[in-house]
Amino acid sequence: MNGVFVTLNAGSSSLKFAVFEGGSASTTALMRGKIAGIGGTPVFSAKDAHGKAINTGGLGALEASSDHETLIAQLLPWLASYQKDRPLLAVGHRVVHGGQFYDRPTLISPQVIEELETLVPLAPLHQPHNIAAIRAVEKWRPETPQIACFDTSFHRTQPRLAQLFALPRDLTEQGIIRYGFHGLSYDYIASVLPEHLGQNASGRVIVAHLGNGSSMCAMKNRKSVATSMGFTALDGLMMGRRCGSLDPGVILYLMQAKGMTAPDIENLLYKESGLLGVSGLTNDVQDLQNSDDPNAQEAIALFCYRAASNLANLLPSIGGLDALVFTAGIGENSAQIRELICEQLGWLGVALDDASNKKNATRISTDRSRVEVFVLPTNEEAVIARACRELLH
Ligand code: ADP
Repeated sequence: MNGVFVTLNAGSSSLKFAVFEGGSASTTALMRGKIAGIGGTPVFSAKDAHGKAINTGGLGALEASSDHETLIAQLLPWLASYQKDRPLLAVGHRVVHGGQFYDRPTLISPQVIEELETLVPLAPLHQPHNIAAIRAVEKWRPETPQIACFDTSFHRTQPRLAQLFALPRDLTEQGIIRYGFHGLSYDYIASVLPEHLGQNASGRVIVAHLGNGSSMCAMKNRKSVATSMGFTALDGLMMGRRCGSLDPGVILYLMQAKGMTAPDIENLLYKESGLLGVSGLTNDVQDLQNSDDPNAQEAIALFCYRAASNLANLLPSIGGLDALVFTAGIGENSAQIRELICEQLGWLGVALDDASNKKNATRISTDRSRVEVFVLPTNEEAVIARACRELLH
């Protein structure tokens, strides 16, 4: 196929994009970049396939407080001019929630957009931005095929028990189940496991996606068997600003005794908790690591304790552990966090090689470790590009 695919990943305050060659199965993007700081002062940056910064002057000034739609409208013609004579074959989107029915990438139609709208309450801080990106492309290039790739799809292989809450059946039938997220990241890691693990790739693997949003996925035969996130992306691990698992009684208490409203609680759980809430300083792990404030250290310690506990919680689903993979911003870069998590997993036979861990090497366990431990960079955009290629074929 002569032409390119553009991938868009519209988050709450950032828009990540990448461009892939249509005719090649390469997972390396021709270029990738992001607009950060959306809602405040947007900052644009892009790099070519070799990691060299691209001159972004042609984009023009980005107005402060521009919304996603305005910024996408500005970005897309710039991307097109950057590609020169190579036609745009399709735009692939990361969409956070695909509900029960989207278990694979889907060509977007007006009906699909309508269905995605109904899932907004399940991912209030993410889904509206994903839909805004789809609408912006539709307005600018109505003839271009658009493809939605869902963070929930990878988990639809899970056994029924892993997806159930202990709630009355009629609520389960209404779709109140554990969906799981970060599926594009897990899909990518699953695709590269054989390269690194050989036969163990089809064994019992837990992937820890640790970024601003964090979760874990237990895999067998490179398929999702259980995951730490549930109905929404709030459950499971402690995150940058999200609380992770919480006794639901706390929410009742906040409503009944403290008079908090649903929007107050949404804000508290999604934006004011996690590393930010516990440290009282920031959600940025690098800054927390550099701080000597005891609250910063406690936030990191709690993050790691909760990560190790969540990992243990996933073990019955796969009956043990052959390999542990760290990925995403924190997982790929923070030797301290990996060390603190693995220290609490010594009883499982996890032994880290200190020097390899400090270097962010690919394999960071010792030769004697009963569980192999890896650091593998994720590449959600490559999974979206692969879906575009497969669907257009
Ligand atoms: P998002 O979920 O927004 O995509 P990322 O996967 O980019 O998040 O992860 C962001 C997190 O990774 C931040 O907490 C950041 O501090 C952390 N991080 C990035 N680089 C490093 C590093 N070198 N050392 C420690 N933490 C890092």
